[in-house]
Amino acid sequence: MKYSGLAVLREALRGHTGWKPAWRDATPAPEYDVVIIGGGGHGLATAFYLARHHHVGRIAVVEKSWLGSGSIGRNTTIIRSNYLLPGNIPFYELSMKLWEGLEQEVNYNAMVSQRGVYNIFHSDAQRDAYARRGNAMRLHGVDAQLLDRATLRAKIPYLDYENARFPIQGALLQARGGTVRHDAVAWGYARAADRLGVDIIQNCEVTGITRQNGSVTGIETTRGFIGAKKLGLAVAGASSLVASMAGLRLPIESHALQAFVTEALKPLIDNVITFGAGHFYISQSDKGGLVFGGDLDGYNSYAARGNLPTIEDVCEGGMALMPMIGRARLVRHWGGIMDMTMDGSPIIDKTPVENLYLNAGWCYGGFKATPASGFCFAHLIAQNTTHEVAGAYRLDRFAEGRLIDEKGVGAQPNLH
Ligand SMILES: Cc1cc2nc3c(=O)[nH]c(=O)nc-3n(C[C@H](O)[C@H](O)[C@H](O)COP(=O)(O)OP(=O)(O)OC[C@H]3O[C@@H](n4cnc5c(N)ncnc54)[C@H](O)[C@@H]3O)c2cc1C
Repeated sequence: MKYSGLAVLREALRGHTGWKPAWRDATPAPEYDVVIIGGGGHGLATAFYLARHHHVGRIAVVEKSWLGSGSIGRNTTIIRSNYLLPGNIPFYELSMKLWEGLEQEVNYNAMVSQRGVYNIFHSDAQRDAYARRGNAMRLHGVDAQLLDRATLRAKIPYLDYENARFPIQGALLQARGGTVRHDAVAWGYARAADRLGVDIIQNCEVTGITRQNGSVTGIETTRGFIGAKKLGLAVAGASSLVASMAGLRLPIESHALQAFVTEALKPLIDNVITFGAGHFYISQSDKGGLVFGGDLDGYNSYAARGNLPTIEDVCEGGMALMPMIGRARLVRHWGGIMDMTMDGSPIIDKTPVENLYLNAGWCYGGFKATPASGFCFAHLIAQNTTHEVAGAYRLDRFAEGRLIDEKGVGAQPNLH
């Protein structure tokens, strides 16, 4: 069934009796050409692009829980391509371009909203760093504008311009950045992949990876053995755990990150704002809640929940930037697990185990990367060669010292 305005009208007239489940509840087949472990955004996008662009025949996505239960349904929904380093900009800009055509490509309303991302700066040195970033973006054909204080104030008048501990000097704006409804991305890719014949197998936990003569043969799961000619790992926060099933030790630590939502308010913040003097970023959902987040909880964990000191720290960031937020009541918060690499950049690469491919290390920037990650991972799995925009995301860069240290804080995952 194709979703359209006409379909909505037709179903309204016949009492909504014609809607079909968005995807089949597939039973595992004995073997597939490609099995992707992880039904998050990256795994589902990979399966979709494998079927759509590479015409791979038998594909399965194996998910231990329900689709959207991981970080794809827990993030603060921000998309942008305002990166500095040449290893990153082309990749994230490809992702932005894919976001721009996503809803048409998968025939699903993911509420892609290019409402603009404002990175606020608070010192001369930070202004210079943002100017440099903006210039790097423009050299790569990505939109960027440096706004002075007066221009920013005209656009976002409610920030604290008068009495702030960290005075606001201006902002770097990426007007094409914005937000996307996060779980609709999982549902949209799942439905589109299912329509192309991909088996989406939920409630099926992978417990082992079988190998013969150094090459992958399949996976052990809670629903039995599934053979796989090629196997892709896209399990984000669980990357180290699942990779260890194939004897791999990854340069990744898992950390908790929290997100927060206030009570619904009248439309107030019609863009995305990030605080430059601390870790705080905010937007407003279409339901009215202010959606915001901050720093990692700062210790290694596989538990998808955070703790109180970080909540206080995030709220302090909000108060420093826009004191009025103190009047909004916080109604929900939750945690998700971040797969933090040593340099803050991801890995899309083959592994030393033949026919085992790795997509991991998304830190807390993986949502915006979802389309390009799936696109490039599908390319790698189908063609056994790295896609040109993902050329820097090699697994061996940590051993060889070729880090992509976007934030300039060295090999410290908790600081990225
Ligand atoms: C609070 C928070 C805020 C964030 N904000 C942003 C943001 O604003 N912008 C941005 O770009 N990024 C953001 N991120 C990061 C982003 O959400 C993640 O990097 C990204 O979603 C990870 O990829 P994924 O969607 O494939 O992961 P997931 O959705 O976590 O998918 C991985 C899947 O693998 C499954 N799995 C794990 N182990 C197994 C197993 N053994 N067998 C089978 N399945 C298994 C899990 O159940 C899970 O569904 C945020 C994350 C969090 C938690």
